[in-house]
Amino acid sequence: MNSFICTCLAVLTFVLTGCVSSTQIEVEAKQQFEQMRAQMPVSGSLTDKAYVRCISRAIIAQLEEPYASYDWDIEVFEDEDVNAFAMPGGKIGVFSGIFKVAENQDQLASVIGHEIAHVTRDHSLKRANRTMITQNAALIGSEIVDTTYGVETTDIILFGAQLGLLMPYSRGNESEADVVGLEYMAAAGFDPRASVTLWANMAKANPAGPPEWLSTHPSGDTRIGDLAGELRGALPLYNEAQSAGRIPNCRR
Ligand SMILES: [Zn+2]
Repeated sequence: MNSFICTCLAVLTFVLTGCVSSTQIEVEAKQQFEQMRAQMPVSGSLTDKAYVRCISRAIIAQLEEPYASYDWDIEVFEDEDVNAFAMPGGKIGVFSGIFKVAENQDQLASVIGHEIAHVTRDHSLKRANRTMITQNAALIGSEIVDTTYGVETTDIILFGAQLGLLMPYSRGNESEADVVGLEYMAAAGFDPRASVTLWANMAKANPAGPPEWLSTHPSGDTRIGDLAGELRGALPLYNEAQSAGRIPNCRR
């Protein structure tokens, strides 16, 4: 690669990734969430909705600011897939298929805590920037290069629209969400030991491979080994929560 191309790549990367703000990601997330609501059946079960909200609210109450004060939008989608996600700006989506795998409030709290941790640790923004670097590399030589120095906000938003939900997070972000999510659930009074069972159930339910949202996670065994170590940090938080009377009772 000659130095001209190298310079171009560096400038393009800087211009594009330097311009993606949390606000733009949040705007995109809001649109995607509304689009899902419009295109997918939402659960008609008030019990399921109340159950997911009960768990989510208990965890949200333990978040650092500004996340604890977000106006979180929580939805249950009627879909067989074992899936759940959280998006920047405070959106949580749970697919009803997850109830086949998450057998109780503590197990579902493991999933929701993990997803919320992706939001509080800005993983979507990191993923967006990572995606852009990949796209930029692919776009060198195309007409995009010609507009490098005159890139406009609309172009950035166009790029933003391609940074969809379906992109996997990096392995490092997944591990961080595991650790942070475990702390959140434990501080909310959910038993963090349930996460071990949850991931084992998940591996059993998906013998052909993990669902998309876990696609960059370590394999089941490695992950369960890691979690067992991380429990040492989370268990004291759980005990503290219990002593302080934070004992959630979310039922389905
Ligand atoms: Zn994840």
